[in-house]
Amino acid sequence: MDLHEYQAKERFRAAGMVVPPGEVATSPEEAEAIAAKYGGTVVVKAQVHSGGRGKAGGVKLAKDAAEAKAHAADILGMDIKGLTVSKVLVTPAEDIDTEAYVGVLIDRAKQAPTFVVSAAGGVDIEEVAETNPDEIRKLTVDPRYGLLPHQAFWLANFLYDDAELIKQASKIIGQLYDAFTSSGASMAEINPLITTPSGEVKAIDAKMSIDDSELFRRPEVAQMRDASSEPPAETRAREAGLSYVKLDGAVGCCVNGAGLAMATMDLVNYYGGEPANFLDIGGSSNPDKVTAALEIIASDPNVKSILFNIFGGITRCDDVANGIVEARKRTDIQSPIVIRLTGTNERLGLEILENAGFSAFTTMDEVVEEAVRLASC
Ligand code: GDP
Ligand code: MN
Repeated sequence: MDLHEYQAKERFRAAGMVVPPGEVATSPEEAEAIAAKYGGTVVVKAQVHSGGRGKAGGVKLAKDAAEAKAHAADILGMDIKGLTVSKVLVTPAEDIDTEAYVGVLIDRAKQAPTFVVSAAGGVDIEEVAETNPDEIRKLTVDPRYGLLPHQAFWLANFLYDDAELIKQASKIIGQLYDAFTSSGASMAEINPLITTPSGEVKAIDAKMSIDDSELFRRPEVAQMRDASSEPPAETRAREAGLSYVKLDGAVGCCVNGAGLAMATMDLVNYYGGEPANFLDIGGSSNPDKVTAALEIIASDPNVKSILFNIFGGITRCDDVANGIVEARKRTDIQSPIVIRLTGTNERLGLEILENAGFSAFTTMDEVVEEAVRLASC
């Protein structure tokens, strides 16, 4: 689950970090009132689950309340990377000397939180990593001990030469680690971490992703979910109890079991295609779940073919077949559907599908090859 900037800043504050104040507005008038309250120059910032808001025109400086109102009117309703802006954060503007990057995320290979810092902040860190890897310092934290003071210092020392700035940055890096662990985050990021002309170090942007599996024991974080700001397909999938991750390809994949789903996606690649998604419908043949899965996949405009790959173990193939037939009756699907069905009650299942006019296969290779072919037509 992604947090908005204003929510991530709340988590930072809860960990003791001093973050510039700010309030959220949903209308230009509200933005104007908040700006008037702060006085002076403010920044109006789109609250969407996406980076690069600045480049997209979603972060604007306003010299007074009237200008804040005008910027809020521009930004509210704006489309940033497919997401509609319905909230803006209004915050007093800071004078900026330098912009650095500080992030911590779970490194899956190392199975531990890993810090990434760079004095080349403000911009896309992935780009810095590719073009100037020497400008990045990394540190993996042993979660048994947490981030030790000398480690925070070592990271901060890479960002600044001035002892006073290093001291302030070390403290903020420690607080970022606390916010990260106490929120059950998979990623927490400050970009930019600024220095001001008066010699202060401050986080003026905040980004955080929470591990969904941590939410059940952190109600104070779970209540920050803003379903209206998430891609509708993901909300629908979560509500239907499906594991779904949207990808960029054209072959929609509907599979039972996460391992089989991963193998299916690999095979789509092997035959020259790209999967449109990861989707695990679980062990269920419930037509409601199959309908939800079909609707979610079909709502993706990139999808050109839909591939079912079902291995019936405890799940019976005839149940799944009935679920698919029923689901297609309920939904209007334009893309061709191909199905591989094998396992318990396979013969019955295939009969049901063929009677309903579906292309049914028994091997994974056949069905994937066909789905890739249909997607490239
Ligand atoms: P992002 O583009 O989504 O990462 O949004 P940011 O909050 O990082 O803002 C983008 C850029 O806008 C920053 O890198 C700054 O250069 C600029 N910016 C943001 N807030 C301020 C501010 O308070 N004062 C000034 N002068 N610039 C700001
Ligand atoms: Mn930023």
